[in-house]
Amino acid sequence: MSFRTQLVVVGGGPGGYAAAYLASDLGMQVTLVNLDKNPGGVCLYRGCIPSKALLHVAKLLNETEDAKNWGIEFAKPKIDLDKLRNWKNNVVEKLTSGVGLVGKQRKINFIQGKASFASSSKLIIEKTGGGTEELEFENAIIAIGSVITTIPSLNIKSDRVLNSTTALDLPEIPKSLLVIGGGYIGLELGSVYQALGSKVSVVEMTSGLLPGADRDLVNYLAKKIKEKYEKVMLNSKVVEMKEVKNGVSVKIQDQDGKTIEEVYDYVLMSIGRKPDTSGLGLENTNIKINERGWIVTDKQTRTTDKNIFAIGDIAGEPMLAHKASHEGRVAAEVIAGHKVAFEPLGIPAVVFTDPEIAWAGITENQAREQKINHTVVKFPWAASGRAATLDRKDGITKLIVDPDTERLLGIGICGSGAGELIAEGVLAIEMGANLTDLKLTIHPHPTLSETIMEAAEVFFGQSTHIYRPKR
Ligand SMILES: Cc1cc2nc3c(=O)[nH]c(=O)nc-3n(C[C@H](O)[C@H](O)[C@H](O)COP(=O)(O)OP(=O)(O)OC[C@H]3O[C@@H](n4cnc5c(N)ncnc54)[C@H](O)[C@@H]3O)c2cc1C
Repeated sequence: MSFRTQLVVVGGGPGGYAAAYLASDLGMQVTLVNLDKNPGGVCLYRGCIPSKALLHVAKLLNETEDAKNWGIEFAKPKIDLDKLRNWKNNVVEKLTSGVGLVGKQRKINFIQGKASFASSSKLIIEKTGGGTEELEFENAIIAIGSVITTIPSLNIKSDRVLNSTTALDLPEIPKSLLVIGGGYIGLELGSVYQALGSKVSVVEMTSGLLPGADRDLVNYLAKKIKEKYEKVMLNSKVVEMKEVKNGVSVKIQDQDGKTIEEVYDYVLMSIGRKPDTSGLGLENTNIKINERGWIVTDKQTRTTDKNIFAIGDIAGEPMLAHKASHEGRVAAEVIAGHKVAFEPLGIPAVVFTDPEIAWAGITENQAREQKINHTVVKFPWAASGRAATLDRKDGITKLIVDPDTERLLGIGICGSGAGELIAEGVLAIEMGANLTDLKLTIHPHPTLSETIMEAAEVFFGQSTHIYRPKR
């Protein structure tokens, strides 16, 4: 069967469905092709949403532990893993079917199947229920996301070696778990299992957890992880793995070059994600990919084939859901003929560990590397009333400022709820707010948001709760 559509979106993740829905709202006739039965993509099915549901449980378990310090002791929690898994699956099911429903309400033509390009204006769709369809299009948006990276030499066939998808299925609560990779996904999932009762260790190749993130922010998290985890192995790498009776034997080369061997109940391999365009038929189009496998696009998200656009994880870093959605909306507007471009001043990044870490705009390191004139101001949460009431003084709010214009260039926050707080910083950066704006905005008391206002006051040497005279 063959039919025509004005716009086809390939891939129904947060990038693809945001693009498809806005295009429909702008009056286009839209077809959305996706492998899963509803839109949602990695984010809703196998990423952001299920992991955050489980991290919410981890936070609750951690707080019941902390409560001992406040004179309240709970009995050891009983964990019904089947019920927990069902609850998490229900969250995913409700959200994905809800997103599917608003697509139907918009009369989006949703096809479950795998699409590949036959030419610059034609797709072949292998439908999940069987059969193929040919689809001619005026414009296409590629939003196929990314895939899990593996290390071929460590690929062993074992149910005891988890990846981010299978770890979210909670097969059981391992007695011991080795997380390979100290990036955000490994640390988030590691902290879920640690809170559920596993003895968790982490091995990271570089010299610190969360490579690339600001050390001022990471230090608080690293301290907490050191307290809670069995072992943190930095500058170390896994060189061999094999399944043994009731576990996985892992050889790790440590920072002194010594090889140690340990048996873990389970291993979670979490070394990142990568683009993968194999099977997409790009050779039948004029689309170019770069040396790292990402589809090359311009500021309007257009590929090197003029009627085809690419957004989200497949179009480059940062590989984050909100970046994908924003790019998707830009693509839809460009196709509708609007003069728009993807030019954010700050894309927030959040690590939902405990404490959370969030940043947006330029980091201190980037400012230094790019020789941007900047001043750094910090407000430690030890001086925040709200942090004291929460018994969460382990945090910091940090601003990167242009000293001449006083404009906010970047913000970093470590602390409980940093992921929610960062939005104020993103708005300030996007609106070109200066530190006087932040200082003069009345923030509600007692809240953690006051730490942003007080960090701005530090810039002027006028913070109420810490004494830092202007230099
Ligand atoms: C464990 C985990 C936790 C994460 N947590 C966060 C978080 O907290 N915050 C955050 O911002 N990001 C998070 N991410 C990253 C986030 O999930 C991705 O950045 C985001 O999903 C990318 O969106 P996308 O639209 O580009 O693609 P995806 O969400 O990957 O969706 C692409 C879809 O296209 C489908 N597809 C692929 N090929 C084809 C084809 N040929 N035809 C039809 N359909 C196809 C795929 O099946 C998939 O459903 C997390 C990821 C993981 C794995």
